[in-house]
Amino acid sequence: MPGDFRALVLEQNDGNVTAAIKNLPDEALPPGDVTVRVAYSDLNYKDGMILKGLGRLVRTYPHVPGIDFAGVVEESSSSVFKPGDEVVLTGWRVGEIHWGGYAERARVKSEWLVPLPPNMTMRQAMALGTAGLTAMLAVMALENHGLKPDNRGDVLVTGASGGVGSVATAVLARLGFRVAAVTGRAESHEYLKALGATAIVDRAELDTPPKGPLAAERWSGAIDSVGGTTLANILASLCYWSSCAAVGNAGGVALNTTVIPFLLRGINLLGIDSATCPTERRLLAWQRLAKDLPLAALDAMTDVVPLSQLPEKADEILKGQIRGRTVVDLSA
Ligand code: NDP
Repeated sequence: MPGDFRALVLEQNDGNVTAAIKNLPDEALPPGDVTVRVAYSDLNYKDGMILKGLGRLVRTYPHVPGIDFAGVVEESSSSVFKPGDEVVLTGWRVGEIHWGGYAERARVKSEWLVPLPPNMTMRQAMALGTAGLTAMLAVMALENHGLKPDNRGDVLVTGASGGVGSVATAVLARLGFRVAAVTGRAESHEYLKALGATAIVDRAELDTPPKGPLAAERWSGAIDSVGGTTLANILASLCYWSSCAAVGNAGGVALNTTVIPFLLRGINLLGIDSATCPTERRLLAWQRLAKDLPLAALDAMTDVVPLSQLPEKADEILKGQIRGRTVVDLSA
């Protein structure tokens, strides 16, 4: 029906969150100065939590999730975007406190949007999405703190077969770094080597607490999706004056470490937040992704699914079973 759009709608009853595909009228869309016809969205760890009602990320139901989308502007009262422009949205708590991309139509504030980077398709933009942006922001943070290809040690990437880890591995390899990819999955070894990893580290090596505050200097930098004991181990093993970009907590939020690695090795722990990252840095990161990631390699890490498969995919991402990136095709 004209004016209606298809959306994955979450409802909450007696504390249980359920998902169903529904047709909604345009009038149901939240306020915003730009309305977008969504072409693709994607699945991130946070989407998995939201789809299953975990972490109290969503406070108001009914809710349309989807923290990222790419699409074409349909209506705009903004001076920056006009109908027909191809745009990308990641973060800004869209899909959490504002309806998101698991719908054929989305209405948002223009300042949350960026133009689709040149030489990138909307599908590729969602194959990257929040995970890709986060991986690039982490690489940029390490570079800003002095990371350059040298012989001191490999750059460690944890949760390597996940979304952030896959993109981080491919970008670092393309930039000339030796990358040690940490994974708990034997079946991911060939996949990670194809993305450019030069060494594979078993997840179990990093998941028992470090024996002391310092271990042998091993990594010239690190991008960590796991947190907890894994992060404590990384901090103890970074080379003198190097940095770890912490992006996630797939393995827990507690951090049991000491001040010693910071005092005696001068290391940096860099927190990465892609959701509210300033627009200037966001635009730069998207340009770098278009330049520094072999976009063809994205296909090897991308699975495309329809809206109807998301509840099942949410279970898989929360169990750490998804490899690479999951793109949602709104036309399927
Ligand atoms: P994925 O689920 O795609 O990847 C996470 C990977 O971590 C898994 O594939 C698995 O890799 C590994 N893993 C999962 N569970 C555990 C565990 N218990 N112990 C050790 N390793 C584990 O998630 P994303 O890549 O999308 O996100 C990774 C993390 O980063 C999440 O915590 C997410 O919330 C966070 N994040 C943060 C952002 C920010 O702005 N700071 C933005 C985006 C994500 P393997 O099987 O290879 O070991």
